[in-house]
Amino acid sequence: MSGPGGQVVILEGGTVATMDGAGTGLGAHGEEHASGHVVVRDGRITAVGPGPAPEPAPADGVRRVDTTGCLVTPGLVNTHHHLYQWVTRGLAVDDGLFGWLTTLYPVWGQIDEDVTGAAAAAGLGWLARTGCTTSMDHHYVFPSDAGDLLGAEIEAAREIGLRFMPTRGSMDLGRSQGGLPPDHVVEDIDTILTATAAAVDAHHDPGPDSMLRIGVAPCSPFSVTAELLAESAQLARDRGVRLHTHLAETQDESDFCAERFAMSPVDYLGSLGWLGPDVWFAHGIHFDDAQIATLARSGTGVAHCPSSNARLGAGICRLRDLRAAGVPVGLGVDGAASNEASSLIEEARHALLFARATGGPEALTVRDALHAATIGGARTLGWDDQIGSLEVGKQADLAVWRLDTLPHADIVDPVAALVLGASPPLDLLLVAGRPVVEQNRLVRADEDELRARALQQHRRLMSRARISGR
Ligand code: ZN
Repeated sequence: MSGPGGQVVILEGGTVATMDGAGTGLGAHGEEHASGHVVVRDGRITAVGPGPAPEPAPADGVRRVDTTGCLVTPGLVNTHHHLYQWVTRGLAVDDGLFGWLTTLYPVWGQIDEDVTGAAAAAGLGWLARTGCTTSMDHHYVFPSDAGDLLGAEIEAAREIGLRFMPTRGSMDLGRSQGGLPPDHVVEDIDTILTATAAAVDAHHDPGPDSMLRIGVAPCSPFSVTAELLAESAQLARDRGVRLHTHLAETQDESDFCAERFAMSPVDYLGSLGWLGPDVWFAHGIHFDDAQIATLARSGTGVAHCPSSNARLGAGICRLRDLRAAGVPVGLGVDGAASNEASSLIEEARHALLFARATGGPEALTVRDALHAATIGGARTLGWDDQIGSLEVGKQADLAVWRLDTLPHADIVDPVAALVLGASPPLDLLLVAGRPVVEQNRLVRADEDELRARALQQHRRLMSRARISGR
């Protein structure tokens, strides 16, 4: 073995769903091989196809993985999350968004570096265990004197081994100015812009082997001023990084934009420079036809978070219409405080079920759901040149799902077994060719230690916020 990522890994014997071709149209899902192979060398895919792998030249450090009984897919890509919320799960469990936020803002106002690091390690560890190889994170709560919160989650991603796109979020519209968050969790605009620029300059790696890209992500129209939105767009474009925010999660927010700005949420954001292929919005539940057409024309993406949206009773986004219009769509678990499961493969199933429940049986196919969870997510993050499908030359980010045990062995179609069946165990998860999960356990981190650390920080946070925890 020639060091991390330098090993040759040959996977053969099982089904391979490539999701290649990166087609944006409906029904473009790439080749599948009932019995196929994937070869990985130096962290990248060097061969993929039907039957056994081509015989490599004899060499040291060749690892053969028998994937018989398994399905090999691209690693899943998570396009919306708030990792710090891992330690604030199970609160306001029967509230809608605004009531839930009002309960949680005072708790989040007490987070610090230790809380954020422990929550991020646990959340990213669980994402890895459920097939995710790349996650973004939207962190927008920065209490003063809380320490280096972005640095803490970047360290957690390194510890687990995931590819990561944390975004420097922000809120500057406190309650006294007509916003929703209490004043003590908002920052002033100069502090935000300085810290955001510093985060990009310190951490962003735009290169082809990047494990870490930074984005810019003010929180939402009801917690951020128009000035901060416009300045954030300018900053992101100056530095060549991506832009993200929550949009149209509730009807209340659409009403807020109508009353305050006399515009739809998409037109309001568009008026501030927030449309284009470098922008993606979380949720987008309440877009009308005109807003969907604007998103499609501008190439703006959407992170669909079905479980969180259902948990908060916010509604279900018009996935069929977004995809039919050509809007890039990825899936997100959203923050753990509104999705206690935080499992990306569950989002694929929920996306399919909710799309059909609201849009009819043709709304989303099984393979559409896997597409959204993989290459669709990569496209939404602007990373589809490197990840999201199993193609020669791409990063070796892949998941090997075991489908020959009790819950799945009799399901005829392996892709349907993955999407419609119970969440399967993971035999192997590779990120840049490096094992992150083996035999359903994390490789680089100790799960018991992650659990204990998160529980300890949860207790500490609950006591600081004077709430009874576990
Ligand atoms: Zn969110």
